[in-house]
Amino acid sequence: MTSNNSFVSFSPSTISKFLNCNASSWFSFHQNELGELEVDTFYADIGNAIHQSLLEVQKYGKKKKYVGDTLDRSFFKDFFDSILEDELIKLGLNISNLEVQEKLISIQTGIIQCIDLIISDLENWYFDKNANEILVWEECWLDHNDKFDGVYVDNVSRSKTRADVVGIYDDSTLPYVIIRDYKTGKNITDPAKDPGLLMRGIWSLLELQNPSASWFIKDRNVNINVDSVILEAINLGAKKHDDFIKRVSFNHKDLLKVASSFSQVMGKIDNAKNSSEQSQVAPPSPGGLCKDYCPHLHRCNLGKIYVSMKFGINTLENRTTSNQEAHAFFNKNKSFLMNQLTDISMNSCPICHGSIAEVKAEKPTIFIKKYLQCDNFVECGFQMPSFGRKKKN
Ligand code: SF4
Ligand SMILES: [Zn+2]
Repeated sequence: MTSNNSFVSFSPSTISKFLNCNASSWFSFHQNELGELEVDTFYADIGNAIHQSLLEVQKYGKKKKYVGDTLDRSFFKDFFDSILEDELIKLGLNISNLEVQEKLISIQTGIIQCIDLIISDLENWYFDKNANEILVWEECWLDHNDKFDGVYVDNVSRSKTRADVVGIYDDSTLPYVIIRDYKTGKNITDPAKDPGLLMRGIWSLLELQNPSASWFIKDRNVNINVDSVILEAINLGAKKHDDFIKRVSFNHKDLLKVASSFSQVMGKIDNAKNSSEQSQVAPPSPGGLCKDYCPHLHRCNLGKIYVSMKFGINTLENRTTSNQEAHAFFNKNKSFLMNQLTDISMNSCPICHGSIAEVKAEKPTIFIKKYLQCDNFVECGFQMPSFGRKKKN
C-alpha cells in the first residue's frame, strides 16, 4: 500500500465544488490578502437545521425501538418541531420569522413524508440478534480500518465522508445495503450523479467485498446482497411524488467506472491545489453561483463580467461591500472592467480581442443551452453562459 503522504484525499463536497467551477476551488486553495466575500447562508442554514432534526428523529426513534416503546408518528412530528426550533436558534434564526416560515412551508409536505418514512423504516432495518443491534447508522464516518478513516477509492485516492444514513434493509429474501441522504434543496438530486452518494456507494461495495470496518458487517453473521447497494436521495422539496425518493442500484461494474472518474478528478484538484497559476489548471465556469454564492467573485475576472452583464455593475459592486479590501480592489479595477464590457458590446473578446459569438453548448444543461464564446476560446478561455446574443456566422 502507498504510504500515507502520497495519498490524494478530497471530500465529496470538495469534488462537487471543483466540478461546479474549477476556478472557485483554486481560489479557495490560494487565499490572498483580499480575503473572501460574505455568502448568504440563509437557505443553507435552514436546510442544515431540517437535516439535523431529521437525523435526531431517527436516532431517537432507534432508541425507542431498542427499549420497545411504541413509535407514535405524531409524537415524532412534535419532537421534530422542537429539535428544529433549537437547531434554528443555534444558527441565529427564529422559527417565527416570516422568511423562515415560508421556506418551512414550501418543504413541509416533504418533511412529514420523511418523518413517516423514518418511523416506518425502523421496522425494516436488519436486526442483528447476536449483537442485539439494529443495523442502521446515522452520520457515521466511513473507514476501512486501515489507519485512514476514508473511502479507499484506489491506491492513491481517498475521500473522507459520512452518510446521513447507512443501513442494512431487511424487506426481501436477501437483505441489502441502503445509503441514504436527506436533501433539502429545491433541485431534485439524482443519486447516480451525486458525488457524496456515489463515494459512499464505493465504500459500501468495498466493505461488502472485503469487510474491514469493525462497526459495519465485519464478523457479523449476516447473509446479505454483496453484489449491489441502493443509493437513495430523499428529496424533501420534491413537487412530484416520483421525485421524493430517488434511488439507483450501484454494482461492482459501476464502482470501477465511478472510482476511476473520481480518481481523475481528484488528480486535477490536487494539481489545482499545487499550482500557483490558476488559468491553466482551473478555468472559471460562470453561472448561477457567481452572484450570491461565490466568495471569490471579486478575484474572478470572468465571474465579474458575467455578473455585470446579467445583473448590472451596481449589483456586482454591492456584493463587494461586505469586505473593505475587496471593495477597494473593485473600485481600483472598475475602469478595466468597464472597458471589458465595452469590448463585449462590440463583439470583441475582452481577453484577446478576437471575435465573440453565441455557440450551442456541447453539453447543454437546464440552465445553460448556449455560450458566448471567443473564436480563440482554446487559447484565451473566454466563455460564459449566453443571455441571448448574436449568432455565430
Ligand atoms: S465567480 Fe463564478 S466563475 Fe468565478 S470562480 Fe466564482 S463561481 Fe467560478
Ligand atoms: Zn479571446
